Amino acid sequence: MQPISSPSTWQNFKRLLSFAKPYKLGFVVAVIGMLGYAAIDVYFLSKLEPLIDEGLTGENLDFMKWAPLFIIACFLIRGLCHFIGNYCLAWVGNNVVADLRQKLFEHIMAMPVPYHDKESTGTLISKLTFDTEQVLQTTSKSILTLVQQGAFVLGLLVMMFYKSWQLSAIFFLIVPLVAVIVTTVSRRFRKISKNIQGAMGEVTSAAEQTFNGHKVVLTFGGQEREAKRFGQINKHNRQQRMKMVATKAVSVPLIQVIASFALAFIFYVVTLESMQDIQPGTFVAVVTYMTMLLRPLKLLTTVNSDFQKGMAACTSIFAVLDQDKEKDTGDKPLVRSGGKIDFNHVNFSYQGAEKATLKDLSFSVKPGETLALVGRSGSGKSTASSLLLRFYDAIGGEVLIDGENIQHYKLADLRHQFAYVSQQVVLFNDTLANNIAYGRPGASEEEIIAAAKSAHVYEFAQNMPQGLHTNIGENGAELSGGQRQRVAIARALLCDAPFLILDEATSALDTESERHIQDALQVLQQNRTCIVIAHRLSTIENADNIIVLEQGEIVEQGEHKTLLAQKGAYAQLHSLQFGQ
Ligand code: ADP
Repeated sequence: MQPISSPSTWQNFKRLLSFAKPYKLGFVVAVIGMLGYAAIDVYFLSKLEPLIDEGLTGENLDFMKWAPLFIIACFLIRGLCHFIGNYCLAWVGNNVVADLRQKLFEHIMAMPVPYHDKESTGTLISKLTFDTEQVLQTTSKSILTLVQQGAFVLGLLVMMFYKSWQLSAIFFLIVPLVAVIVTTVSRRFRKISKNIQGAMGEVTSAAEQTFNGHKVVLTFGGQEREAKRFGQINKHNRQQRMKMVATKAVSVPLIQVIASFALAFIFYVVTLESMQDIQPGTFVAVVTYMTMLLRPLKLLTTVNSDFQKGMAACTSIFAVLDQDKEKDTGDKPLVRSGGKIDFNHVNFSYQGAEKATLKDLSFSVKPGETLALVGRSGSGKSTASSLLLRFYDAIGGEVLIDGENIQHYKLADLRHQFAYVSQQVVLFNDTLANNIAYGRPGASEEEIIAAAKSAHVYEFAQNMPQGLHTNIGENGAELSGGQRQRVAIARALLCDAPFLILDEATSALDTESERHIQDALQVLQQNRTCIVIAHRLSTIENADNIIVLEQGEIVEQGEHKTLLAQKGAYAQLHSLQFGQ
């Protein structure tokens, strides 16, 4: 069959098998179980002819005496084989999928930032959950059917021919017809299952987008629009599924009808004179075997479609695994930086963007100094800070730390030099203490408490049921905006990095929170080189240097007072904010 032998499917299957290698023994035992199951069935059926010709006619009394014991023994062994086959196969399958899922998770985590910019979270999650599950379900099912039913069919065929080759030969008239149908149907399946996976990803990502932005949807009355959009995606998904069901539903009866022709033909043939000497037992046996063949044959026709479904999921998973991880080309270790930053004629644009995001950006920050980046939103402030962490690499020019191009440092070492406090505080579903210690997992209780105190986290933590060891729920849902920021500051304090990147909050907080945060930030900025992405100019009056960015270019730089006196871009921004 074409789809099975096409190289990419075959290569994918071989690759999937390589995941099963460590579980080889389990697989061998599973196959033994499945073969045993089929063998017992064939053996049991082979006793049909003697039952009619010897047992029921009363010719052989021993036969009937042993029959009950024989039945029970057969089914005992059959049950045992069933258990061994299914259990061992599931053991192998679940292990393979767990390994695959783990590998995929780690790979996605290690992908560079531009990849995550491009891919929707919903699609990635769907690959991790739906696609891996699909591989497990379909592949184990196809293997089980192929081995167990395949062996059963083979056994029955051998027996049929042994009993009466003339009758059995007729059976072969239908084989080519069945093969043609199977090929056509399976080709269609392959196409549809690919679409279905895409559609499932769409459902997840559409739902996720809406639920994440739930408040925005409510505020702007977008429920109807979202419901409509989701409805369309949902409909598409349903249509794809129905197409799949329709193909399946048509294929099964079609094959059975074709098989019935063969059966009808046999009944016609035995009435011919040349066939009159056939024993009743032989005739009943062959016809029974033939009927018995229908079910396994039907199951076998679904093997290819299942297998293709699994391979489509595999393709989607392997496509991710084949993407290059974030490259770490640097080999210079960096234990603790001296705290000096230089941008030398840095140019940068995002993948696929038409305009350059940063143009010929040059500045220096000395150890312990604070640099403030100001400018309208979209002017490139965050981008500049992303380059420091090498989320993206400069296209031209270079970024230096302690006089060395940051691309020469080991990536993990480089990132370890930075603490990052942004307006979007990311908190994990864990205790307050563990969230604070996220950047330094081995921190002692005293160190955590000290950081919590300096960042004014301790005050509100004391009112929580288990203090610092209270679980704060998914993404810290139980904390207020100001509290979340204080946790982020405590986290940065504890990791005690030589550099601090501070993406200041745009939204004003209540005065009490604001005062605490400003206090905490002051502590945090001490003895550190800071880059502040400032949205409110009131907080950066003491900065050593202020850079005003406009469309990725520096239009002004200097201290607060000097810049105000210049009455240029900075003074303009300032008067905008303070309404002067
Ligand atoms: P700021 O921090 O000053 O608000 P940004 O550095 O976030 O500005 O953005 C600068 C420009 O780069 C904007 O035009 C923005 O649309 C674009 N941009 C930001 N992030 C990305 C991204 N991940 N992919 C493509 N373009 C981006």
